[in-house]
Amino acid sequence: MTSHSDHRSRVLILGGGLAGTLAAAAVAPYCDEVVIVERHALPDTPTPRRGLPQARHAHMLWSGGADAIEDLLPGTIRLWLDSGAHRIPLPRAMVSFSPCGWYRRWHEPEYAVDSLYLIGAGRDLIDWGVRTQLLADSRVRILTAEPLRLLGDHTRITGAVIQHGPGQEEHLHADVVVDAMGRASRTTTWLSDIGVPAIPETILDAGVTYASRLYKAPAGTADDWPAITIQPDARMPVPGTAGSIIPIEGGLWQVSLCGTRGGEPTGDPERFEEYARTLRHGLLADFLAASEPTSPVSLTRNTTSYHRHYSKVRMPAGFLAVGDAATALNPLYGHGMSVAALGARALRDVASRAGGPTARGFTRRAQREIGRPAAAAWLLAAGQDMFFPGTRGKKPTAADRVTSAYTHRLIRTAASSFTVAEALTQVMTLQAGAAALAHPRVLVEAIRGPRLPALPGPPLTAVEDGVRQGRAPSPSG
Ligand SMILES: Cc1cc2nc3c(=O)[nH]c(=O)nc-3n(C[C@H](O)[C@H](O)[C@H](O)COP(=O)(O)OP(=O)(O)OC[C@H]3O[C@@H](n4cnc5c(N)ncnc54)[C@H](O)[C@@H]3O)c2cc1C
Repeated sequence: MTSHSDHRSRVLILGGGLAGTLAAAAVAPYCDEVVIVERHALPDTPTPRRGLPQARHAHMLWSGGADAIEDLLPGTIRLWLDSGAHRIPLPRAMVSFSPCGWYRRWHEPEYAVDSLYLIGAGRDLIDWGVRTQLLADSRVRILTAEPLRLLGDHTRITGAVIQHGPGQEEHLHADVVVDAMGRASRTTTWLSDIGVPAIPETILDAGVTYASRLYKAPAGTADDWPAITIQPDARMPVPGTAGSIIPIEGGLWQVSLCGTRGGEPTGDPERFEEYARTLRHGLLADFLAASEPTSPVSLTRNTTSYHRHYSKVRMPAGFLAVGDAATALNPLYGHGMSVAALGARALRDVASRAGGPTARGFTRRAQREIGRPAAAAWLLAAGQDMFFPGTRGKKPTAADRVTSAYTHRLIRTAASSFTVAEALTQVMTLQAGAAALAHPRVLVEAIRGPRLPALPGPPLTAVEDGVRQGRAPSPSG
């Protein structure tokens, strides 16, 4: 066993996924060294890797999260786009069937909003882009090893014991240890082993199962193709079902289908398109019928939401949790990566104000700030999840029902009011908090209700409708 201790300031990050690499970017400017300990080797190309099973499913990166990543690591969006990712402007390039009907796409120039968008990219590309940008910083290094336990006691964490291989343990000391091991994290047990009280957590489980598959995008759809989503309707007394087609790099569509408890898809490739046909609208199934699958079906049931309340116990100094290790969200709303990014930006801001992660009280303040975007996304998700039949966890109260009724009125109004559509999109993309939905302009529109008739069908362009019907666009467009 070796033991290292020196006087250079060091942050040790356990887990080299998105939250871990972004946390490294956040603190690197304020310390001498950042060491990321990741269990699996990380590829230097945007290719699949072990330890990230969710990468086989659609990963929407909303502009709130993408902007935060760009702020931490300038040039990342350019790197993604140069590698084939799509920047999908919202709401213009989103064909979305809400619980209250089709959203309009607001094509007219006066409705062009450049700040709201979605990055259409595979998860491996997203993580690779962030990692590549991060590793340009010589203060950061990644060790392929496995942490075994924390060093220190219930008052202060001073590092971790890591294992490089059988019998090869190292005591790695650090000023701050960051848990970024995602849903696989076991630090709540490690903390309790050294006398830290149990960290209370809220759990909400709608029993969501995901089935996903790649499709070859039909000829002529590579550029400027919309994201397509069919959303669930939690007001119905039946399991929620949903699906999305996201154009990603390599001329592919990442297709994900999902259902809440009692309405789950299976991993059977023969039944993938059949399940798509059972969604609340058949548009997605029509597009799948016009394209070719290029991968097997990947299935995951690991979607339970939990929110750990670190502020409710006396946490040891020198320890932080980020990303899914702290709060894991139902993936239906596509907020996990953006919450990790906004949390990392908050971490950077606390480090900047405090003068670095070695400052007194740093981890307590940082954990509080990291928790804010997570709590906001939690409320958005819980406001819907608790209404699905069979959801385990909190049951809706009268206040929840009033909030839900207002949200549905907003959704119905958004189909015919740009003001409301923009506010909803800002909140969905995590570029604004839920307070944007109570802005007087939005309230007035909501009281007035829809002023245009509901769209009779999906708002497709002629080219998109042709593809839906199996006609490839002509080369001239
Ligand atoms: C089906 C599905 C679909 C999703 N869709 C979306 C979406 O559309 N949009 C979105 O924003 N989010 C989505 N998410 C959520 C998103 O995947 C997570 O929020 C995000 O990955 C969190 O990043 P993280 O770094 O905290 O965890 P992870 O990305 O899981 O990274 C954890 C890292 O820790 C490593 N690790 C684990 N244990 C150890 C150990 N003992 N030692 C060392 N290293 C370890 C792992 O190998 C991994 O590299 C989805 C999730 C699922 C399950």
